[in-house]
Amino acid sequence: MSSTNVSQYFIEAKGLFKQEEYEIFMADKEDTDFEIDPKLFFRICPFCGFKGCTLDFSLRPHPCNLYLCRSVIDICGKPYRAYSNERKDYFSYCNFYNEYIKEELMENNVDFIKDIDKSLNIIENLNVPTFEPRKLAPIIFFFKGNYIPA
Ligand code: SF4
Repeated sequence: MSSTNVSQYFIEAKGLFKQEEYEIFMADKEDTDFEIDPKLFFRICPFCGFKGCTLDFSLRPHPCNLYLCRSVIDICGKPYRAYSNERKDYFSYCNFYNEYIKEELMENNVDFIKDIDKSLNIIENLNVPTFEPRKLAPIIFFFKGNYIPA
């Protein structure tokens, strides 16, 4: 792994940036007014393996688990609502337990900087329930906006 930043309540794993490839890409661009920052395409996540993500779903950051492009959401139409609610619930669950873990560390007057082993031990022994997702009907859609509820 490239590098890791440890702060009081967070551990940030830093990825790589392909500076040379980015400069080559930018060299012949006359119009640099991009809709999306092109640097995004030259960043490599440290958890990306040959067969995709090496992290378990439960350990991935929210955007990795919840991102869907706007076009896909629009095409799904109304049936997407149930998925949207599920995403919100999962997001709330993650935020709630992240905050809970932080509070527990604070109550024990410890953090990753003070004593990382003790902090990790406390986290390991916390009772964090696993998220129980609803079973949602799949949405099968076509690019013209039609969908077939399964
Ligand atoms: S899903 Fe997220 S954590 Fe996993 S490799 Fe992709 S960017 Fe990294």
